[in-house]
Amino acid sequence: MAEKEIHNFQAETKELLDLMIHSVYSNKEIFLRELISNASDAIDKLKFEAIGRPELLPAGEELCIELETDAQKRTLTIRDNGIGMSRQEVISHIGTIAKSGTREFLHKIRQSENKDRSGELIGQFGVGFYSAFMVANKVELKTRRADGEETTYWSSTGNGSYEIYTEEGGRRGTEITLYLKEVDPENGIEDYTNTWVLERIIKKYSDFISYPIKVKVKENEKDESQFKWKTVNSMKPLWQRAKSEVKEEDYREFYKHISHDWNDPLKYLLYKAEGRIEYTALLYIPKKAPWDFYYQSYRSGLQLYVKKVLISEALEDLLPRYLRFVKGVVESADLPLNISREMLQQDRHIVAIRKGLTNKLLSFFQEMLNKERELYYDFYREFGNALKEGVNSDFENKDKLQNLLLFPSSNSEKGLTTLKEYVERMHPEQKEIYYILGESRQLLENSPHTEAVRQKGYEILYLTEPVDELILQAIGEYEGKKLKALGKGELVLDEKEKEKKESQLKKAEKDYEELLIWLKEHLKDYVRDVKLSQNLISAPACLMAEELDFSPHLEKILKRQGERFEKTKKILEINPNHELIKGFAGSLKGRDKEILKELATLLLGYAFLTEGAELPDPVAFNKALVNLMARQLQAKVA
Ligand code: ADP
Ligand code: MG
Repeated sequence: MAEKEIHNFQAETKELLDLMIHSVYSNKEIFLRELISNASDAIDKLKFEAIGRPELLPAGEELCIELETDAQKRTLTIRDNGIGMSRQEVISHIGTIAKSGTREFLHKIRQSENKDRSGELIGQFGVGFYSAFMVANKVELKTRRADGEETTYWSSTGNGSYEIYTEEGGRRGTEITLYLKEVDPENGIEDYTNTWVLERIIKKYSDFISYPIKVKVKENEKDESQFKWKTVNSMKPLWQRAKSEVKEEDYREFYKHISHDWNDPLKYLLYKAEGRIEYTALLYIPKKAPWDFYYQSYRSGLQLYVKKVLISEALEDLLPRYLRFVKGVVESADLPLNISREMLQQDRHIVAIRKGLTNKLLSFFQEMLNKERELYYDFYREFGNALKEGVNSDFENKDKLQNLLLFPSSNSEKGLTTLKEYVERMHPEQKEIYYILGESRQLLENSPHTEAVRQKGYEILYLTEPVDELILQAIGEYEGKKLKALGKGELVLDEKEKEKKESQLKKAEKDYEELLIWLKEHLKDYVRDVKLSQNLISAPACLMAEELDFSPHLEKILKRQGERFEKTKKILEINPNHELIKGFAGSLKGRDKEILKELATLLLGYAFLTEGAELPDPVAFNKALVNLMARQLQAKVA
């Protein structure tokens, strides 16, 4: 016999195990789902490897999962004749958590107030095997890889270390024995040596597993030696069955099996494509975006079956990148079985399937938006940004994608609007779709840029998500209506009034000529020009940008991310009808020039602050402000 070695778990694994052992997660029976799911994965892998190496799978051998119990010893054994593991694989898959992000995961758990969230978080990391420690004091594993010579024995009580040794020979596959904790219904631990209990759990979570799950049951209550193997699951792949035949729970459990998510899915979609290329797809939308969704490490892709064999566990090419949140299975008989990964990527079938699935999903989302608005909000909160990625990358489907976007609007306090709904509500004489981006809704609702539009009673999209500005710029026009950013470029609200306004402005320009020249000279370091405004109503001044400039909010964010860009100076527009501006023009002669300069600094600062931008010269602004206050108080005292 080979020597037994004791290995310590890495620190993170230890912490995870601790978490499992002391878990207050009440739904402990799911450990069985996890172990059966692993056994099923292992058989899938064997079948796949056997395509190229038929000797791995002796003819006539039945691939199955077996469960055996011993009430006296309080053990439960789960056995499969799948791919098995080499010693090295046991160490790297079972002994350590190789998955990136474990640290972040543990950090999240530590922070989370609600301990029961551990289940949800654990699920996201696919630490399925460790769930055995929720119900067992000790776990033994015995495994031989299909192409290996030796059996590896592994065991642990979950207390920081595990024991491992190997021996020549043994049967192919993996056998896991749990030394069960005391039955404790209050803490969700049932008697897992009772085959009735096992049958119920298997039916509940693992019915669709495509290999027989056999439980060793007593033939006769009195005679211990009489037993039989009873197949508990129905084994039919869900996607091949009619919807009416399948229970909702089965769809949900299947999702957990393939996605390694412990939450229910938000929605699923069963699709059979007929015609030139035939395939079936069972697709799921998760409820929550995984923590690593926006990281490079995020594992996307759909399972691909060809003639009942799992060819790829996560084939990314079946969907465009922006739909990477979709989980599921695709089965097609049209693909060759022994196709290589490299070939898959360019295969015309795969390209056609991707196109078909994308179309199907986009209309599925549209239907959800039309018919289940609340649910769509939940979906959009999690994956809206992914759809926005699509607007910028999937030009073929841009029209469909832009119909799926939602924006906050002045039309409603909480609800979100689509561009289509906005256009439907537009006034007959309204020509453009108005939007503005800033840090908060409150800031935008009080922005001088929105005054004239609000007075007209036109709707405004109040955007606070920086990416929305880029998206709307990319869309440019919707149903022939220009998407117009307020505060950028010329704003013409009424063609008929345009001429009248312009001639008024011409006249006013004469009266304000001197002030405009003086302000322009004094503020030339900060603004490109000083002009009279056509659109301001109650505000004395504002800043106007060029049509394609970024808003201050987006600028700030890009700057924080270390992006470099040329900041162009803006135009200061002043309101010729405002008492303050009139007063300013009137005091230009005679007044102390230093005081006027300070007032100009304050006016400029006001314009920057109202749009949530940083002050161009905070020191000068503060000085001017303090001097103003001092003068004001002196005047009162005197
Ligand atoms: P996941 O299934 O999400 O990968 P698990 O913790 O359930 O995570 O399993 C970890 C790994 O251990 C699996 O990916 C697999 O490589 C290996 N493994 C677990 N159970 C078996 C088994 N019955 N046969 C072969 N390999 C297994
Ligand atoms: Mg697993």
